[in-house]
Amino acid sequence: MNCYVDLHSHSSASDGSLSPQQLVTQAARAGVKTLALTDHDTLSGLAQAQLAAQQVGMQLVNGVEISVSWNKRTVHIVGLNVDPANEMLQKGLQGLRDFREWRAQEIARRLQKKGIEGALEGASAYATGDLISRTHFARFLVEKAYAKSMRDVFRHYLVVNKPGHVAGDWTTLEECVSWVKAAGGQAVVAHPARYRLTRSKLLRLLREFHEMGGAAMEVVSGSHSRDEIFTMARHAADCSLLASAGSDYHGPENPWVKLGKLPPLPENCTPIWHDWALAA
Ligand code: AMP
Ligand code: MN
Ligand code: MN
Ligand code: MN
Repeated sequence: MNCYVDLHSHSSASDGSLSPQQLVTQAARAGVKTLALTDHDTLSGLAQAQLAAQQVGMQLVNGVEISVSWNKRTVHIVGLNVDPANEMLQKGLQGLRDFREWRAQEIARRLQKKGIEGALEGASAYATGDLISRTHFARFLVEKAYAKSMRDVFRHYLVVNKPGHVAGDWTTLEECVSWVKAAGGQAVVAHPARYRLTRSKLLRLLREFHEMGGAAMEVVSGSHSRDEIFTMARHAADCSLLASAGSDYHGPENPWVKLGKLPPLPENCTPIWHDWALAA
């Protein structure tokens, strides 16, 4: 199915593999009319993406995907239509990138204890933006043949109870929503079906988020199954949240997530873009 709106994507400014310019060009080629660039904890790719979007006549939404700690778990909140010049948002994201720096050293130290040398330098070589992510460690570990695939490397090294795991210590849900709102944006719960929360915990997250001024949740996501889409659509309606749709595209090396190929939102959803001036 073709889809003209894609509100979740990554570039090499965080852990995507395409530059902002390449990403925008690919999206336009795939038929996307409105794309949000939502790099993890940084706004640094947006200027280049806006320029590229102007050149190909595509609408680019200024976005960001913010790392949050909620009930001892990491949850991702997408901010859409944020003002990249907003100081409160900039400062908040800088704090998250500072934590990433410390965490990267700690991940490398823990991997070294397991006999893996040079992980910080190796991962840093893959980090082309202003932050370092577990994805960069994963690429290094695959390069060094510690695992066959990105999936395996996360499973064996980078998740809880594995040698390279460091618990997230991100911002709170409330602070995150306040930054997005201060920057004039709308806050969206990213890929809600991916958190391994029980139904009641997930509903608690969504209700708290709505109370704090959160606007929407991703109903359609590159990582949601058909069944999950319909379950999430019901949750959105029950929690008075608008519905968003985004691929979470990170680059061509992951062939099961494509730009411009999302299923439509179920009919009972109100799209977050219902009152936006969308590109024709
Ligand atoms: P970080 O924000 O640095 O903790 O890294 C999280 C990122 O790692 C996510 O945004 C994904 O891009 C990637 N990631 C997480 N789990 C997996 C997985 N199982 N396989 C591949 N990539 C993953
Ligand atoms: Mn990522
Ligand atoms: Mn995410
Ligand atoms: Mn993402």
